[in-house]
Amino acid sequence: MHPKLKAFLKKTALPVYLELRGLVYKGNAVSCPCCKGSFTTFLPAGSDQRKIQCPRCRSNERDRMLWMYLDRHPDFVAPGKKLLHIAPEAMFYKRFKKIKGLDYTPADKFAETFESTYPEDTIYLDVVDMEGVKDNTYDVIICSHVLEYVKEDLQAMSEMLRVLKPGGVALIQVPLKAGMPVTHEDDSITDPAERAIVFGDPGHIRFYGEDYKDKLESQGWKTGFVPITALHSDEEIDRCVLIKTDDFHFCYKE
Ligand SMILES: [Zn+2]
Repeated sequence: MHPKLKAFLKKTALPVYLELRGLVYKGNAVSCPCCKGSFTTFLPAGSDQRKIQCPRCRSNERDRMLWMYLDRHPDFVAPGKKLLHIAPEAMFYKRFKKIKGLDYTPADKFAETFESTYPEDTIYLDVVDMEGVKDNTYDVIICSHVLEYVKEDLQAMSEMLRVLKPGGVALIQVPLKAGMPVTHEDDSITDPAERAIVFGDPGHIRFYGEDYKDKLESQGWKTGFVPITALHSDEEIDRCVLIKTDDFHFCYKE
């Protein structure tokens, strides 16, 4: 499909389709905090086709997790702050754009590529080398599920620390296999199908283990991971279909 037609349909037909799909699945088994809908089920998505996608807004587990955190902690992203949002997810982009007085920078390395689906004002930024961004620029960085695609992940951690203000906080989420002590990384696996099996996604190049914290700290971060179970009841986790073993990977610059 021509990219321009694709973009046009995405703007016009897709919202109607999703709204209708939300009605088809309207029910009372699961709830989505992002679109405030309740449904009979979420829909299969991702390489393992688990039922995690909201039929109406297409949120997944990690979107809902962050959305609920932002709902309950309005000071995290607030007016007067300078936010860097790497690989901006559309629903969070819309949310942040509505905050008056927030200095918001959506950014990604693939912002300008032909098939990019990022919002128009997303700037080009390589997380491994944020050339042109001064030290101590941002109050908050949100970088969710990016590092598992990045070969030089330690360098990216170091760059994010550099551009964050002292006293600032970064939320650097990655897929982390609870109970696995050491990150699994294997350069020899390049076939997307094999990567999907080994690392959970055709584009992932590693699966982080419990040493993720050590990697961040080796680059100068102070970490304060918060388990999702500390913030939500089991009922809430089940109802919103979140991952019980997930943590919020908060990282601080002293
Ligand atoms: Zn939803």
